[in-house]
Amino acid sequence: MSQGVGAVKYIVAVASGKGGVGKSTVSANLAVAAAQLGYQVGLLDADIYGPSQARLLGIADGVMPDVIEEKFFIPIEAHGVSAMSMAFLTREKTPMVWRGPMASGALQQMIESTRWGELDVLFVDMPPGTGDIQLTLSQRTRLAGAVVVTTPQDIALIDARRAIEMFQKVSVPIVGMVQNMAIHTCSNCGHEDPVFGSDGGQTLANEYEAPILANIPLSRVIRETSDAGAPISAVDKDGSVAAAYREAAAAVMATLSGSEAPRAPTISMTE
Ligand code: ADP
Repeated sequence: MSQGVGAVKYIVAVASGKGGVGKSTVSANLAVAAAQLGYQVGLLDADIYGPSQARLLGIADGVMPDVIEEKFFIPIEAHGVSAMSMAFLTREKTPMVWRGPMASGALQQMIESTRWGELDVLFVDMPPGTGDIQLTLSQRTRLAGAVVVTTPQDIALIDARRAIEMFQKVSVPIVGMVQNMAIHTCSNCGHEDPVFGSDGGQTLANEYEAPILANIPLSRVIRETSDAGAPISAVDKDGSVAAAYREAAAAVMATLSGSEAPRAPTISMTE
């Protein structure tokens, strides 16, 4: 069996310029949604400064990946996803202090020494920001594309733009954007409030000709399910948020395999 990413078809970075916009939550749900669609899915938590996938996927603190042949980690299965995180190798309370080159090296090692096996897609929950670590990871990993997560807020959009430009610099195609925390629906009166603004993601999408893959609402249930280690895509399969994530995951896979979602028929000209 192949170790490392040798048998992984597509590696997709999930990135945000800014921290706290929901990148890890989106990564977990995209991965779970892709698994629900029948794909073999891996998730690498590369957010070394705040690894949160163990918690998001409900993997208890202290659960360690098995090691085989004394050198390869076996990813931990959760909600149909094969997950690996630096956090599995430490305790939740242990702070991780990394300097640039050390962090890039450790990440690279974690990718290569994990027995991912045959995957259709490996999502990489990137560290937030666009510094050396992100750039090195983007250059050294054979990324098929990147999904950029942003809120519609100006300050997040400025950073999302930086992330997009970084990927473009290293020729990684932008698969699309997920606009998170877009609308809040009041649980008392049903009033819809665009807490972080409304058009930001669309403006960015137009500017870079990349689609918005999903608009995810700001919702208490998303926060609660994330905290409880049961992503909303897994616990509320029939809900609208899960449906939005499945649609986004399907669009990502379609773009990667080059078979875009159905379009208007092309007109062929004959003489
Ligand atoms: P990042 O990876 O960008 O730092 P996280 O995914 O860790 O962000 O999310 C930050 C916080 O926001 C978490 O507490 C998470 O549960 C919450 N959160 C993320 N997306 C949503 C959402 N759509 N609605 C409500 N809370 C959310």
